[in-house]
Amino acid sequence: MAGGFAKDGAVAEQIEASIDDAIAQVRQRIAKGAGLTHCEDCGEEIPLARRKAVAGVRRCIPCQQEHDSEQSVDVGYNRRGSKGSQLR
Ligand SMILES: [Zn+2]
Repeated sequence: MAGGFAKDGAVAEQIEASIDDAIAQVRQRIAKGAGLTHCEDCGEEIPLARRKAVAGVRRCIPCQQEHDSEQSVDVGYNRRGSKGSQLR
């Protein structure tokens, strides 16, 4: 009886180990920046060529351009902010 119980436990451990492996693989892929197949902004499929060219790509080209221009506005604001503090 005890032997049978131990066997069941071993199988359960194996299943848990393979789930852990799968989660670890997914986490590694995210950490490495595998990127998305579909744009996170508009949901359009990102062309394979773009996905291959840009590691960790998350947006289609129009959305990325929009995102980049928004970022440059933020940078400009931050620069002005630090200049202001230097003048004091
Ligand atoms: Zn998009």
